[in-house]
Amino acid sequence: MNKQINRVNTDVIIVGTGVAGLYAALSLPADKNILMITKSKIEESDSFLAQGGICMLKSDDDYDSYFEDTMRAGHYENNPEAVEIMIKSSRDTIDSLIGYGVDFRRDNEGNLAFTREGAHSTPRIVFHEDITGKEISSKLLARVRELPNVTIWENTAMLDILATDNTCYGIIAVSSSDSLYAITAPYTLWACGGIGGLYTHSTNFRHLTGDALAVALNHNIEIEHADYVQIHPTTLYSDKPGRRFLISESVRGEGAVLLNGKGERFVDELLPRDIVAAAIFKEMEKEGSSHVWLSMSPIDESVIKSHFPNIYEHCLEEGFDVTKEPIPVVPAQHYFMGGVKVDMNSQTSMNNLYAAGETSCNGVHGANRLASNSLLESLIFAKRAAKCMDFSNVTECPDSLLDGINTEYYDNKNALFSRYRSQVLSEIERAKKETEIRRKTVMCRTGAQK
Ligand SMILES: Cc1cc2nc3c(=O)[nH]c(=O)nc-3n(C[C@H](O)[C@H](O)[C@H](O)COP(=O)(O)OP(=O)(O)OC[C@H]3O[C@@H](n4cnc5c(N)ncnc54)[C@H](O)[C@@H]3O)c2cc1C
Repeated sequence: MNKQINRVNTDVIIVGTGVAGLYAALSLPADKNILMITKSKIEESDSFLAQGGICMLKSDDDYDSYFEDTMRAGHYENNPEAVEIMIKSSRDTIDSLIGYGVDFRRDNEGNLAFTREGAHSTPRIVFHEDITGKEISSKLLARVRELPNVTIWENTAMLDILATDNTCYGIIAVSSSDSLYAITAPYTLWACGGIGGLYTHSTNFRHLTGDALAVALNHNIEIEHADYVQIHPTTLYSDKPGRRFLISESVRGEGAVLLNGKGERFVDELLPRDIVAAAIFKEMEKEGSSHVWLSMSPIDESVIKSHFPNIYEHCLEEGFDVTKEPIPVVPAQHYFMGGVKVDMNSQTSMNNLYAAGETSCNGVHGANRLASNSLLESLIFAKRAAKCMDFSNVTECPDSLLDGINTEYYDNKNALFSRYRSQVLSEIERAKKETEIRRKTVMCRTGAQK
């Protein structure tokens, strides 16, 4: 027998309450009803975990260098148009965050202070201690909560979309008490974050399993570079299960060094993430060890305690005093450069369906993300999605689509999510092979030209 399904209608559905979802809600017209859902609690999005900071174009003179750093880190596979949009929108975005109440570190003159991370040729990252993500997300959340037109449902998971003829009319969602909802809206925005929950060792929340990608695969919505997964070089080594604790790259930006078991440096710590992670794996293999070491001894104790209080405290809790001793670190899955393919307005290949933030791929990061570009990208392209939604001429969800929902398909959400996991992992493997062939072909062609 078909399970009961509750029908809800709104103007915009936003799946995800990280920075992409929150900023989109703030950028939409105030007279439109917005329903935001999140699979877990609001604070359990990766946006709240971001440590190092958020990039900005600090002066026009830095444009070329910022552009080149982003492209070089991305192995020049980036979409230059997306990079240009991101960099040119960065100052306005930081100003708007400050307007929403975000407090960034200031220097003695009251100007924004900048820190540096790997692969940046100059300090251009604004930050709030080592909890920049929490500062930004909690301030955006506070502003969203003030909006009478926005409703947030926690512990509610998107299981599917309502779609026909390559047009999206909303989503199917399930609450923690297993109530099923058909939520219709002229526009849907996926702001569902990354895929770290698919990996044993990841800095991401465990519930971020790339559900939007599985739904996309099932509805022939285009996906790009599913194999472009970033491994962060430095997470605190632990053999306990669960999320890995990140040791921000800005710790290395401020001078921390990587050491092998003999206490020797073995890599330039400020190279792009993929190169540093590969060097660590090589060193671990050479030594037969499960981790390498990170020493913060080159950083003043006062800087450690004022810039990295969260990292300092967390390591103390784990038994390491970073002001006195090196800590064991190991690379772990961290970020997803690939995702649901979108254009410069975050429009997917399906009508009325947008995607922004880590779940989407507009090509801005190429094959490897430059540190502290992702909060920025999420905000900018979420706002572009919001601004692109045209409410002057919307079409209602056809009754036949709602009447034809097979609720049995959604009966066992755990089995469905398990299928989704397998689908996404298979897609990652398929994309890996595709990339290998593409790169080999390029190498052959280059060789033939020589
Ligand atoms: C430890 C850590 C440190 C980082 N540090 C930095 C940094 O310093 N600078 C920087 O720029 N970036 C950093 N990043 C990356 C950055 O935080 C993320 O890329 C960014 O926050 C992604 O934002 P988002 O809104 O796309 O997704 P998220 O903030 O991850 O939010 C995803 C949302 O989607 C929801 N969701 C997912 N699936 C479903 C579903 N099926 N149904 C309903 N809801 C769903 C989740 O519950 C969540 O609300 C860091 C990431 C981590 C993990």
